[in-house]
Amino acid sequence: MFVRNSVAAKISVNENERTDFKIALAGNPNVGKSTVFNALTGLKQHTGNWTGKTVECARGTSKIFDKYFSVTDLPGTYSMLSFSKEEEVAKDYLAGNEIDCVVIVIDSNVIERNLSFALQVLSLQTKAVLCLNLSDEAEKNGICIDKDELSLNLGIPVISTCATKKRGLKELKSLIYDVCTGKTKCFRVSRLYENVDVLNSDSHRENAEILSQHCKDICAKCVCNNKNIINERTKKLDKILTSKITGIPIMLLLFGFIFWITAVGANYPSEWLSIFFDFLKTNLYTLFSYLNVPQFFTGLIIDGIYTTLTWVVSVMLPPMAIFFPLFSIIEDSGYLPRIAFNLDKFFSNCGAQGKQSLTMAMGIGCNACGVTGCRIIESPQERLIAVLTNNFMPCNGRFPTLIAIIMMFFAGSTLAFVNSIKVALILVSVIVLCVIITLITSKLLSVTVAKSEPSSFVLELPPYRKPQIFKTIVRSLFDRTLFVLGRAVAVAAPAGAVIWLMANIKVGDSSILMHCTQFFDPFGHLLGLDGVIVMAFILGFPANETVIPIIIMSYMSAGTLVDYTSYDQLFSLLTANGWTTTTAVCMMIMCIMHFPCSTTCLTIKKETGSLKWTAVSMIIPTVIGIILCLLTANILSLF
Ligand code: GDP
Repeated sequence: MFVRNSVAAKISVNENERTDFKIALAGNPNVGKSTVFNALTGLKQHTGNWTGKTVECARGTSKIFDKYFSVTDLPGTYSMLSFSKEEEVAKDYLAGNEIDCVVIVIDSNVIERNLSFALQVLSLQTKAVLCLNLSDEAEKNGICIDKDELSLNLGIPVISTCATKKRGLKELKSLIYDVCTGKTKCFRVSRLYENVDVLNSDSHRENAEILSQHCKDICAKCVCNNKNIINERTKKLDKILTSKITGIPIMLLLFGFIFWITAVGANYPSEWLSIFFDFLKTNLYTLFSYLNVPQFFTGLIIDGIYTTLTWVVSVMLPPMAIFFPLFSIIEDSGYLPRIAFNLDKFFSNCGAQGKQSLTMAMGIGCNACGVTGCRIIESPQERLIAVLTNNFMPCNGRFPTLIAIIMMFFAGSTLAFVNSIKVALILVSVIVLCVIITLITSKLLSVTVAKSEPSSFVLELPPYRKPQIFKTIVRSLFDRTLFVLGRAVAVAAPAGAVIWLMANIKVGDSSILMHCTQFFDPFGHLLGLDGVIVMAFILGFPANETVIPIIIMSYMSAGTLVDYTSYDQLFSLLTANGWTTTTAVCMMIMCIMHFPCSTTCLTIKKETGSLKWTAVSMIIPTVIGIILCLLTANILSLF
């Protein structure tokens, strides 16, 4: 079994633990499988209301009564016919492993469609439990299901659940226990499969028809729809949110609103944190001098490591802690696929497809996640285009840098309402620019190196759901914010040390850092930047979060002693070192358009399996960034 993600890494420890039975969760995408998995294992796999967010497997353990169960969450798939990578993984797993019970999770609102999948699973594994999830929505929609009759027709036990409210999960566990221990017997309902090899993809079309007729017959016996009001609310909302006239403006407003809250909200905690870190710094100096710590170590630890670390924490943590939960709430509400729907026309005109906008949205969080998420795109060429262009979306390592520059140079760093609106508007424009550049690059790629015809694809628009606000906030804080911050801190501390050493070890008259920055200075000035900034981007390869601290440290070692913990002070430091509005604009361009960070490069290598494409993914944004900076610097110098 191929287990890839961080959750899997975390739980692989459990593999050495006692396991009495093996169970697997299978289901269509977006039926609540991850929620059921989390409820069974106590883990916190990412959940979200859109098809395709789970492209990886996760494993965990569950204790039911006196037995231990290893639980594998298979990728959500529509069939077991090996049409896609995920389907192949799921099918091979079910066919190749001795599983004691498969939990087939289905959406109670669309039983007929989901049953076809269930029958395909049952042709691989007889021992199973059918979990009719989203039963709360089905009830509201007036759907009633005769579970006993359904159970007889499938030959396996059936249970209704509402995974978000933990309803029916105890019973589900009991059923799993009974099936695994043999207390409850499953049986193959032979008449369903007579003459039909449901998993033979060669005769897929005829089989699909026979299968679909079976599902209809079963539903006729077991399911009734009293009110026939399926998703009235979704239809009404979609009329506005996916309308040709209002769809895109609402989307821009929504993102503007999120950026506004992020910019306004992040400012206060950022300031509190920097005051706190400043206070600690003063005390650290006192302590170090009391302990007679040599000057070299005081510099390395406080000016190098501590300063870089605290910048990363105080500047990155607040916007992330606000942006990630807000984004997760939108994700949980089911709005994300509507963005893909609204933008599909633009993407297909550029040889790409609308689902790329979902992977771009994931890229705003972290480009490595965005690149992995590209697996939801079926066509290999379109997937490659999405992978190569994901880096144009500024990840959370670059977002705070953009916010800081916008506040210092364009919107005003005080917290006035007008300023915060300006920040939001500029940020939305920056994102729109990123989308336009992505589209243009996609088009160029689709007619050159990654030639592709627009492919047809199915984009499921799930019903809108009330987001689980509290859970989403807590989970995104722990899963995303702390994860990204942890990574940044892990890189920032050693980076701080290296930069400080470079800034303080002298070769000849000046420090190593000076030599390097002087070397890049002419090139930097050509781009409207300077040698320090160019060097910061190069040294920031392990993590973009460290670009600004590197710049600060380089300028400070050049003799300008300014405390930079607030935006105003940072502004003075930058302008004292020759920054102008042109520098700020070019810095923003370079921030969006340069080679991806090392983690993203590794992920691209993993996903494409090719060094060539990894190199292309680094060259494209860098070249575009350089050209745009050259143009901008020269045009602005005319004024
Ligand atoms: P997966 O793609 O199958 O893993 O689905 P998730 O577990 O991510 O769930 C998809 C969406 O459905 C999320 O927004 C969940 O909060 C929501 N959800 C899951 N189970 C239920 C349920 O029983 N009732 C309701 N109303 N929502 C649910």
